Amino acid sequence: MAKRRDERHCSFCGRGEADVELLLSGIEGYICNNCVEQAHTVLRENSMVKASDFSMTELPKPKEIKAFLDEYVIGQDEAKCALSVSVYNHYKRLMQQNAAGDVEIEKSNIVMVGSTGTGKTLLARTIARLLKVPFTIVDATVLTEAGYVGEDIESILTRLLQVADYKVEEAERGIVFIDEIDKIARKSDNPSITRDVSGEGVQQGLLKLLEGSVVNVPPQGGRKHPDQKMIAVNTKHILFICGGAFDGIEKKIAQRLNTHVVGFDSVQNKMHIDTKDIMKYVTPQDLRSFGLIPEIVGRLPILTSLRPLDRATLRNILTEPKNSIIKQYVKLMEMDGVELTFDEEVLEFIVDKAIEYKLGARGLRSIVETIMMDKMFEVPSSDVKVCRITREYAAGQLSKGMPAGILSE
Ligand code: ADP
Repeated sequence: MAKRRDERHCSFCGRGEADVELLLSGIEGYICNNCVEQAHTVLRENSMVKASDFSMTELPKPKEIKAFLDEYVIGQDEAKCALSVSVYNHYKRLMQQNAAGDVEIEKSNIVMVGSTGTGKTLLARTIARLLKVPFTIVDATVLTEAGYVGEDIESILTRLLQVADYKVEEAERGIVFIDEIDKIARKSDNPSITRDVSGEGVQQGLLKLLEGSVVNVPPQGGRKHPDQKMIAVNTKHILFICGGAFDGIEKKIAQRLNTHVVGFDSVQNKMHIDTKDIMKYVTPQDLRSFGLIPEIVGRLPILTSLRPLDRATLRNILTEPKNSIIKQYVKLMEMDGVELTFDEEVLEFIVDKAIEYKLGARGLRSIVETIMMDKMFEVPSSDVKVCRITREYAAGQLSKGMPAGILSE
């Protein structure tokens, strides 16, 4: 390719304009798309390295982490504190691992127990936004013992590797949130003679990861690894946060509390038991009665529970979080130049319905969506500048939109 004198060319690689897709001009010369891409890769790699070499001063302190969580998640202070401390300690442990220290800080994996829809996944997703290490959420329900239909335990780490751009060292410092950990509990009272492929075997596999060992992870046919060679990953420093609804654990807790109360010295030691929120009394022993093997329970030293969402909390969830569902709708309308308002009564009505349908916080969104659907369809093509949602309108929309029979109104 003869370079013509008058042809513009990239000042970095020298390619002529005709040989590249795009040539950007600067004050002193030009840069082609290939060089921009290459520079981007170098920058990314550098920033990954920096992210892992954090210093104490730039680490968010537990109180700062909690304040950040407060912006998105209502209530659940106990779980927020446990998470904040755990993540902070995780960073410290990573820093100490680099320095030749004498005291080795062991990791403290967490388990969060709370009914469905109380914010476990939300907490995990929110904390992920400010983490300086790779983070992934995996669902324990898909895990089975090796050789059975479903995913092998090691697949948990595949996702982490992917997030870390297959940089093993980065993945080895990451955090994994295992959702629905209760689904791999041993079903001891299951009379079936078939093998419990999603129970104890999976727990044994998981134990290996929690304890810290070198596991061979299938990179899962990503383009970078078409030959499916295994990648060895050491889980010693990976922090595991587990979450689960543990449906029915309340019974086990109540049983335990009762036997304690009835026992010796019961009158003086009888504590006041809050029967509405029995979950807060959960102990590692209850996780064992539920069907987690003792070794797993032992590897999850921080046990925290989430509160059931009461009326006031549900009401707050509608409007208080930084990206609350109501704020999202106001924003959507604002983009069409329309001011959207909800009467206070409407918000109370939405909460009532969420409680009535027993949908918890998860139901708030679907109820608001049903109420708003027609407006979202019509308003953008109209001259409307103000849109006020009244209780009558909301009730009307909901009775139209929800399957007959569910709604009493
Ligand atoms: P879980 O994992 O406990 O089953 P999620 O975290 O998935 O529940 O919660 C479902 C939805 O409910 C979330 O997307 C969020 O919109 C809402 N939600 C639940 N709990 C809270 C909370 N404490 N604060 C704000 N929103 C919440």
